[in-house]
Amino acid sequence: MTINATLINILHICHRELWLHAHAIRMEHTSDIVAEGKLIGEESYPQRAEKNQQVEISFKLPSGVNCTAKIDFFDAQKGVVHETKKSDSKELAHTAQVQFYLYLLRKNEIVANYGLIEYPKLRQTDKVELNDDDITKVEGWIAKAVAIVEQENCPPTLPKSKCGKCSYFDFCWSGEDY
Ligand code: SF4
Repeated sequence: MTINATLINILHICHRELWLHAHAIRMEHTSDIVAEGKLIGEESYPQRAEKNQQVEISFKLPSGVNCTAKIDFFDAQKGVVHETKKSDSKELAHTAQVQFYLYLLRKNEIVANYGLIEYPKLRQTDKVELNDDDITKVEGWIAKAVAIVEQENCPPTLPKSKCGKCSYFDFCWSGEDY
């Protein structure tokens, strides 16, 4: 089984979404929000492309789980991961995603000192670190994600009030009055 950074992010949002995504039931291509996020990441910091590189990494855990990630901007000289979020609010899911990046880089014996999450809409940047306790947490998230993916049935929906921006909204709530 493969657990990627997207699943670690989604784990912190909705277990049902994680399960749907992992089982290749995809709606993202219809989402303007996702497209907007990509655009913001590419346009907000064009100067970064000169010194940062895209990195694809993976690491197979002793359990056999393959962990993978594609990091859009990594400054290998400074050991800094850059992540841009179009969101106008900070979320634990963003931090978890960057900690997963740091975890995988270190597992590959690549110097990864910290991450920076840039929020252009908020004009703020958050620093993300990975200490020993965080490593234990990341490994717990991986195990939890595996357990959810292995569930036979799709997990239940969240309260609809939390689903507004989700690309699976129509999938989950078709037939409902909304
Ligand atoms: S619409 Fe709601 S319940 Fe369905 S996957 Fe998205 S967040 Fe989860």
